[in-house]
Amino acid sequence: MAKPSKEQSIVLDRLKDDVLEQMKTIGIENESRLNSLNPIRLAVLRRNATQRHGVTRFRRGANALELKTADVETVDLHPMLLHSSWHDYARFVLYHEYLHALGNRFHDATFRRLEQLWPHEGADRGREFTQFLRKRMATWLWLCTTCDKKYPRKRRANGRFRCRACSTILVDVMNTQEAN
Ligand SMILES: [Zn+2]
Ligand SMILES: [Zn+2]
Repeated sequence: MAKPSKEQSIVLDRLKDDVLEQMKTIGIENESRLNSLNPIRLAVLRRNATQRHGVTRFRRGANALELKTADVETVDLHPMLLHSSWHDYARFVLYHEYLHALGNRFHDATFRRLEQLWPHEGADRGREFTQFLRKRMATWLWLCTTCDKKYPRKRRANGRFRCRACSTILVDVMNTQEAN
């Protein structure tokens, strides 16, 4: 968890307002339960996180069998989600985390049902975001010189890997893409 900058806090607050408003419209929980999400502190994951897009952190010692929103220490979003091109997916991730904060600990059938009530586009961009992060973090692109396919990776291929599409041996090219 990292402390958000002032700019990040402004974006986080705006996303929060949007999501809480939407949750009231959906009517997932009664108003006072939803209002109890409001004071939860929002923060950001480390910039180099690639596995997780958001996380709900409960205070140590909270009763796991009866989690309350007051037991939530922070909800963290990946900092790259705060860029406007990802806001539709960011709202969905925040919605997902708020479902956890309301005491739904596991991704069980009930959780997935609630998750599917989210009425906006962007909910299905998780894989795209993962790819985007992977590409950002990649030092190397394994390049197929036949079909021009690129595989972003942290390590060199060193001639050990073939293109999935055409089986040509991949060559290492430095990933010079500007991180943004
Ligand atoms: Zn989750
Ligand atoms: Zn190829």
